[in-house]
Amino acid sequence: MFESLSERLGGVFDRLTKQGALSEADVVTALREVRVALLEADVSLPVARDFIKRVTEKATGAAVTKSITPGQMVVKIVHDELIRVLAGDGPAEALKIDNPPATILMVGLQGSGKTTTTAKLAKRLKEKNGKKVLLASLDTNRPAAMEQLAILGTQIGVDSLPIVKGETAVQIARRARTQASLGGYDVLFLDTAGRLHIDEVLMDEVQAVRDIAQPRETLLVVDGLTGQDAVNVATEFDGKVGITGVVLTRMDGDGRGGAALSMRAVTGKPIRFVGLGEKMDAIEPFDPERVAGRILGMGDIVALVEKAQETFEAEQAERMAKRFAKGLFNMNDLKMQLEQMLKMGGMQGLMGMMPGMAKMSAQAEAAGLNDRMLRHQIALINSMTRKERANPDLLQASRKKRIAAGAGLEVADLNRLLKQHKQMAEMMKRMGKGGMMKNLVRQFLG
Ligand code: GDP
Repeated sequence: MFESLSERLGGVFDRLTKQGALSEADVVTALREVRVALLEADVSLPVARDFIKRVTEKATGAAVTKSITPGQMVVKIVHDELIRVLAGDGPAEALKIDNPPATILMVGLQGSGKTTTTAKLAKRLKEKNGKKVLLASLDTNRPAAMEQLAILGTQIGVDSLPIVKGETAVQIARRARTQASLGGYDVLFLDTAGRLHIDEVLMDEVQAVRDIAQPRETLLVVDGLTGQDAVNVATEFDGKVGITGVVLTRMDGDGRGGAALSMRAVTGKPIRFVGLGEKMDAIEPFDPERVAGRILGMGDIVALVEKAQETFEAEQAERMAKRFAKGLFNMNDLKMQLEQMLKMGGMQGLMGMMPGMAKMSAQAEAAGLNDRMLRHQIALINSMTRKERANPDLLQASRKKRIAAGAGLEVADLNRLLKQHKQMAEMMKRMGKGGMMKNLVRQFLG
């Protein structure tokens, strides 16, 4: 069995001292373990490598809260990135089945689960969308496969095109189109012939059928357990026939779903459905979150980290509110607020979220109130000593010069920051006397 990723990471991070933020060394060590986990989950090597590189950039410097370990934090970042890649441009759109009869071409290798998936989708469209569906098998080499589709059709109460011996795939496709139009069908599924592996004859045949059938969707069915092979098959089919989506079957098996990640990363085609068993109901729309959890095998950790972050932020808000109420608002508090603003999408982002603020946002930008200014202010605070941050009144002219130079800015910039801090501290004090401070801070920290 796999040693779980959390166990591995636990080992790595026990040896590291806990810091406020993830260092690059922490991240690199942790991601080495993540890479092994990805490979064990059948993610292809180039995809895993690429993925790790992106996560390294994202994770380095991420803040670690006190109730979770850095390892858990890395896992959360990996998990979020997995979902991002798997989800692609957004939720997989529903099948395009308007303008009846809409043809859906099913392609894939023999044994991938193509016929089963065709019947499963037909049942779904009939029951969930109230569509009138016609099934047709084009597998002229395997009479048994044609029989099988007809049998499944009967089982799910969906019509299938009568089998006529001696017809070519193209002839069947043509007859199926006519029948679908005459019979008032909404959707026509064409279940193409599969081969054991990709060959020219097969591709030529699928192309010819495609040209006749003008499908709205061309769905590739691949066995989710075949890992890298599944990706090669998808690349091949997409290049030769052009696919609009993928159905990954056998996601109920022992495989850990890595094929999904490779598939998405390499082909860029959306995974529309996953097959989860042999029964006719065992199919579901693709859920990136579920697959990401499965690849990592540690959904609980992700939930834990989310919870810890919430708690931490709530505690932080509480602490800050108490400090402010007492009139305590030092440079560290200001820095935290500035950082929070950047995290929430900066000045532009914050203002963009508020109705009617678009115009003001432009004005603020013109007045130099932008993200660069936020970063400058943070840099200035960073150049101060701990004592100075706690009590900025200590700052003498010579120190001011040094601090401004340390941040690559002018003393005037620093004076502006100090003035702003004073005003905010005043405001905090006044508001703290009312009871609204706590709520406000909590809202601000989101
Ligand atoms: P085809 O040759 O591509 O048409 O493959 P079939 O549809 O005949 O499926 C081959 C076998 O795989 C059958 O025994 C199916 O019941 C099984 N199968 C198909 N999809 C799934 C799935 O999602 N999970 C599991 N466990 N078995 C599946």
